[in-house]
Amino acid sequence: MRDTLVLNASFEPLSTVSLNRAVVLVLQDKAVVEQAHPDLRMRGAAIDLPVPRVIRLLRFVRVPFRRQAPWSRRGVLVRDRHKCAYCGRRATTVDHVVPRSQGGGDTWLNTVASCSTDNHRKADRTPEQAGMPLLFQPYVPTPTDAMLLALSAEGRDGLPEWLPQLPQPAAA
Ligand SMILES: [Zn+2]
Repeated sequence: MRDTLVLNASFEPLSTVSLNRAVVLVLQDKAVVEQAHPDLRMRGAAIDLPVPRVIRLLRFVRVPFRRQAPWSRRGVLVRDRHKCAYCGRRATTVDHVVPRSQGGGDTWLNTVASCSTDNHRKADRTPEQAGMPLLFQPYVPTPTDAMLLALSAEGRDGLPEWLPQLPQPAAA
């Protein structure tokens, strides 16, 4: 099954998402189906939906990352959902995994969101040196990551519990 194209509320193409993700966005009333597969529907106990090829977000989303996602402190906090990479509590600072004093740079892969307590505690040490393992690995956000992060920032996080039971598309 092909991915679904996502348009911003302004009809500007944003990215593609998996079919499951597209259906979730529609069911969460975050997007409408602009174009559906002519012959397929998703059918389940509680849902009967056209299979979306193109969906459009109902609210304009200001995507915090461009295609060539430039590194920024704010971008790191958004990517990590303001969660400290060391303790999981709310993060307000950005920590260099390999400290700048040891040659670590301002890059997506070398920075994580951190609470100020852990940032101070870790100081000029690597996670190994400080005995502070990362709860998650930093990554370079794609445009799709950026869009989904921007969407989840304004709604509830996570996927509905029934998602694993989402039926496969079948011929109508
Ligand atoms: Zn922390």
